[in-house]
Amino acid sequence: MKQHKTNMRKRHVIYGCISIVIFLIFVLPQHWQIPVEGASKDDWNTQTFWFEPWGSSVTHRGIDIFANKGRPVVAAHNGIVVFRGQLAKGGKVIMILGPEFKLSYYAHLESFSNANPRLVTAGERIGTVGQSGNATNKPAHVHFSIVTLLPYFWKVDSSTQGWKKMFYLDPNNYLINH
Ligand SMILES: [Zn+2]
Repeated sequence: MKQHKTNMRKRHVIYGCISIVIFLIFVLPQHWQIPVEGASKDDWNTQTFWFEPWGSSVTHRGIDIFANKGRPVVAAHNGIVVFRGQLAKGGKVIMILGPEFKLSYYAHLESFSNANPRLVTAGERIGTVGQSGNATNKPAHVHFSIVTLLPYFWKVDSSTQGWKKMFYLDPNNYLINH
């Protein structure tokens, strides 16, 4: 009976800790950082979010941060790596679930960092800048998008594919300190 009680207490402590971690990662707003080491806002064109036409994607639902091939790509926020793999257009990509149920998406990487962490902290190296996927003939860059899993209906507008703006948020608003 006593042993049972101790186990119950232990379990409560573990669940308590997990809830706190989930709360800290997903609910609290966080400070975002530019996902390429040493990059500044001069390394991307702020006008290219929702730029069109943009090939088979129609609109460009992110920004392209240009940097030399091999420059470290870092996590823009604390979170959980939910995908790390190869996609046709994106090439080597990483997706991290983070604050306020937002996903950050990093594409065209040259390589992934050797470690395969599940939990990452803001600024942690996750890979390197490259030209994988459909960026083969373009200068090396990271295509960076922010997707919210909770739809922001008030962001929808009459632009091409404007309904998708409830999911794709403008990275300029997160990476540039106003
Ligand atoms: Zn892009």
